[in-house]
Amino acid sequence: MEENFAGSSQLIAWFEKIKRPFPWRGPHISPYAVWVSEVMLQQTRAEVVIPYFLRWMKRFPTIISLAEASEEEVIKVWEGLGYYARARRLLQAARFLLEHHGGQLPQEIESLAKIPGFGPYTVGAVASFAFHKKAPAVDGNVLRFLSRYLLIQKDIAKPSVQQEFRRLTYEMLPQEKSWVVMEAMIELGATVCKKTPNCLLCPVSQTCKAFAQGMAKKLPIKSSGQPIIRLTRQAAVIKCGDELLLDQVPSGQVMGGLYEFPFFEGTETNVRKELEGLTGGSPLLIASFDEIRYGFTRYSVSLTAALWEIQTKFAWNRYKWIRMGEMRRLPFSSGHRRLCDKVLQFLGEESI
Ligand code: SF4
Repeated sequence: MEENFAGSSQLIAWFEKIKRPFPWRGPHISPYAVWVSEVMLQQTRAEVVIPYFLRWMKRFPTIISLAEASEEEVIKVWEGLGYYARARRLLQAARFLLEHHGGQLPQEIESLAKIPGFGPYTVGAVASFAFHKKAPAVDGNVLRFLSRYLLIQKDIAKPSVQQEFRRLTYEMLPQEKSWVVMEAMIELGATVCKKTPNCLLCPVSQTCKAFAQGMAKKLPIKSSGQPIIRLTRQAAVIKCGDELLLDQVPSGQVMGGLYEFPFFEGTETNVRKELEGLTGGSPLLIASFDEIRYGFTRYSVSLTAALWEIQTKFAWNRYKWIRMGEMRRLPFSSGHRRLCDKVLQFLGEESI
């Protein structure tokens, strides 16, 4: 089968030479650690993942320890890495594995595919890198690399095209040490065959069709995804004594499990008036904070905020009064975490 990929020996030789020493690489890494790293790497660069991976493995060294953790703790350890659905999926899958597989990852591809949250990439990555099976692990790096290497002018955003790439990848993998070629393809896409390809440094340029035809920079073809939606929000940080009012977003929603300050969508709301209505009194404006910009999924948020003080606590929907000293242990969404830092600094509390 090796002849299906003319450049495989050059790719392997290159990979053995340049391979980056990440903590999830090496002969003694557990299948669980491979799985965790692959989930973390799905939407985040490897350099960014390292400290999160080390912290996660220290706190949850086994599938069983993860399965027995609370969602809030899992979210807290994940805090800052974004795309929190990944953390919840890890937890859900760990509980499934504890119940159905004695807290171990099964080796068979069919069994891996039945684990909640295991999509085609995770199945392929775990089968390949943890169990050394011949399996395609096709991520964005591989789609980009193969579009060029094989000169495939099809929209890689389409699931049917991705399926075709998985089949082609499988056919290109050798019987022997297929996992090395698989990992090398991902590494090549991440470091050489990047958005702007560095063909002069590429170990497989001699057999790359796009390079031969001067098409490298024109591929891959990818239809644009959903447009970015801009949101403007006004947060109200409401203080009563040494407590602040916070919302814990319910599970199942975007930001589920994370804490946020109350906020109003748009710039039209008169926050003072709203607070007067809610509290039945006259809240005192203590401070206004500079705009915070952050993004999540396909949203780009502009968050402005002010700190208000009231004399008597009030109940409002699902919001909770939390002591400032406890805020360090709570997981916040990224924009509200930065706001929380600013508020606590302003109030003289240690930054969370
Ligand atoms: S020669 Fe260029 S386009 Fe082809 S695989 Fe290498 S980096 Fe990518």
